[in-house]
Amino acid sequence: MSSGEGGLDPATSRAVEALQALVRIPTVSHPDELDPTTFDALLVELEQRFPLVHERLEVTRVHTHGLLLRWAGRSGARPVVLMAHLDVVPVEDPARWTHPPFSGAVVDGSIWGRGTLDDKGCVVAICTAVEELLEAGHVPAQDVWLSFGCDEEVFGQAAPEAVRVLRERGVQPWFVLDEGGAVAGGAFPGVRRPVAVVGVTEKGVTSLLLRAEGRGGHASTPARNGPTARIARAITALEHSPMPASVPPPTVELFRRIAPHAGLPLGPVLAGAARVPALLVRALLAAGPETAAMTRTTFAVTTLQGSPALNVIAGAATAGVNIRVMLGDTVEDVLAHVRRAVGKDVEIEVVEEGAASPLSPYSTSGAADGEHRDEAFDLLERTIEQVFPEAVPAPYVMMAATDSRHFTAICDRVYRFAPFRMSKAQRESIHSHDEHLGVQDLLDGVAWYRRLLEELPEGSPERSPA
Ligand SMILES: [Zn+2]
Repeated sequence: MSSGEGGLDPATSRAVEALQALVRIPTVSHPDELDPTTFDALLVELEQRFPLVHERLEVTRVHTHGLLLRWAGRSGARPVVLMAHLDVVPVEDPARWTHPPFSGAVVDGSIWGRGTLDDKGCVVAICTAVEELLEAGHVPAQDVWLSFGCDEEVFGQAAPEAVRVLRERGVQPWFVLDEGGAVAGGAFPGVRRPVAVVGVTEKGVTSLLLRAEGRGGHASTPARNGPTARIARAITALEHSPMPASVPPPTVELFRRIAPHAGLPLGPVLAGAARVPALLVRALLAAGPETAAMTRTTFAVTTLQGSPALNVIAGAATAGVNIRVMLGDTVEDVLAHVRRAVGKDVEIEVVEEGAASPLSPYSTSGAADGEHRDEAFDLLERTIEQVFPEAVPAPYVMMAATDSRHFTAICDRVYRFAPFRMSKAQRESIHSHDEHLGVQDLLDGVAWYRRLLEELPEGSPERSPA
């Protein structure tokens, strides 16, 4: 379809029109406070679009505008949590958008606007799937919780509060599913099929401030080794001392799974690399910063401060370091490494401490470490294969942070996957400009959540989780 939604059938138009409506309400999150009017409007819109979801599910408001909904299933033995968030990041330059960012325009078969991919598309797909199943009289095999945060983009309180409510109610989810992965096209050079990447852990975010102090004074009489020189040396030292590189097991499994789908000459190389992790490390480091980040904890010097005036010597100089902590490294390891690298000339202040999320179980077969199947991961994999037969499902390590990290406190299986086809350009549009989601891709996302909910297994786990 080229434009408009006049020709859509009712099932199509429900999801599409709901996403358009949500995109038109600019629920931009701010670190200090959110605009209650906008978020109120969004919650009203959501209720009008999905009346059965709001009538039949038990609704708990969390934090200011987060929602936690419980759909009672036939069993409470293996509850599942489907997550998404209602807030979006700001639009920096509306002029760069082909279609206005809060228009929700349907053009060339896609819905355009801020939040279509991150993450209102998931909100709409989850709600549409549940609404349709309620209309059909479906009762899920297990309790299903929907957790919609209102401040994910500013590392807010809604998700921790939802976790608190679940803990108080004694809910230990069988699995939690949040945004993160996607049915990613063009993710790996030479691999023709899209890869449906399911995040099984995410890097942690830790931030430091390096600080050097001195006498300051007039710029006409500088002394050697002042605060700015010491900070500069510390930054250079850190740049020259990266953390040791390695590939964690889920990355090895990812490459093992995609290798058969890579053409010549890459296929055999990938297959070989997956068998010899040292080769894989070398290849990932060589292929650019994006793949290099898959192999280690990274340091990025982000802020720099010295004197406020050109003719004043800084009495103190600081550099902010944003660190993404890799699975396998602890925050203590990383701090010790930084301390060694920068020496005694600068002080280190820890601004925030976040470790890598624990690794959720996933299935492997034919890997060097043998076969291991996980029933929950298998369910995701099987439903992905049913709805996206063109895709190769695979576990991966997420580089960015999601609200789901809070749920690792109450759940062993936290997965990050949004069931939408996303091209490289679409993935790059997240937090940038021209964010858009294909109409058919939204509908397939609805179909996937539906299938997942219909296929939840009965009763208790075959064996209790380790
Ligand atoms: Zn998001």
